[in-house]
Order: sequence, then C-alpha cells, then structure tokens
Amino acid sequence: MPRTVTLTFDNGPTADVTSHVLDCLAKHRIKSTFFVIGKQAETGDGGALMQRASAEGHWIGNHTYSHTTPLGELEAAAAVWEIERAEQVLSRLNQPRRLFRPYGRGGRIGHHLLHPAAVATLLAGNYTCVLWNSVPGDWRDPDGWVHRALEEARTADWSLIVLHDVPSGAMLHLGRFLAQLREEDVEIRQEFPARCTPIVDGRVVQPIEQYVANAPVESS
Ligand SMILES: [Zn+2]
Repeated sequence: MPRTVTLTFDNGPTADVTSHVLDCLAKHRIKSTFFVIGKQAETGDGGALMQRASAEGHWIGNHTYSHTTPLGELEAAAAVWEIERAEQVLSRLNQPRRLFRPYGRGGRIGHHLLHPAAVATLLAGNYTCVLWNSVPGDWRDPDGWVHRALEEARTADWSLIVLHDVPSGAMLHLGRFLAQLREEDVEIRQEFPARCTPIVDGRVVQPIEQYVANAPVESS
C-alpha cells in the first residue's frame, strides 16, 4: 500500500532549531508547513526565519499569537484576538492561503480547540483549519519520537505529523527520520489529508462540533 506523510512544525520559530530544520528539509528536497506562534514570529530573528522558510517553498500557518490557552477555554474576544493578532504578524509574508492550527495542549483533539467566535473568524477570513492525526511526542521524548513516528507512518495511509521546531533536542534526529522515510518509499507531500481539514478556505467541509466549545448561554 502506498503511504504518504505530511510534515508540520509547530511552536517556532526558534533561533537555532528552525534553521536546522530548514537545512534538513532543503537537503531532502521536502516542503512542509510551519505553524508559528505569532509573538515569536514578530521578533527580528523570528521574522527572518519565516522569510527564509517562505522563500524556500514552505507554507507558514497561524498557530495563535501567544499559545497559552486553547481557544475553546477563552472568552470570545480573546479567542478572536489570538487568531487576528498572529495573522497581522504573518501578513508580512506572501502566503498562498491562510492556514490556522489551534493549540491542542499536548496534541489532544476535542472541544477545547476552538471557540464559536473563533470559528466565525476562520470562516469570515477564508482560513483553512489544519488539525493532525499523528503526534509522536517529540517534545516530551526527544530521542524516542522517531520510532513512534515511523510506526505510525507505516500503519496509516496518510499521516499528518506534528513535530516541533523548539530546543528539545528532538530535531537533531530529523535528518535520520527523513532518510528513513525515503528508504521506505513513503511519499512526502506538502498538502494536507482532507480528513484533517474540517474548514477549507472559509467553508466548513466536515462536521466541526467535536472541535468547538459549547457556546455560552447568553442572558437576554
Ligand atoms: Zn502548539
């Protein structure tokens, strides 16, 4: 069975790690997506790394401005601000489409991911919401994640893998991981599997209730 992997790198940019990841991806001629934290991307160093990633053909997505609380646990205005403030930072880049990935807190999928007001913002702003189906846990197991990621890639037909370009030491193994995927003839694509994108270009294309916090009861 042909297998496919899509790589994403969350929670950067960070000074030394993101440049190492970019070097690895360039060496293996792989395009990916970086879901960046707005407040890190707006620094001088962060901005330069994002410019480089974009120039090298990677997509740059919005992963909230501060990445401190899942949007479904915030008030409406704060949830919207997290998206829009980060998007202001990304507007300096010339990106083909607006990509947003919610903060999952440990890679969990659930109602905490989105607030109803955040969904409205994503729809009005023509965003594509990019979730995931493989979280090998690189940040908590910097050496063991490669084995888990390979196991998941071998058993799923199309894995959308979440990795992190943060200084955990995990990305020291990225080159080895990419070489092994090549060795096993896994196709590596930049596009996302449809089942991981419940909102595409501002349109809801799959049920999203499972990702959205219950709307607060308005007093009238
Ligand atoms: Zn994150």
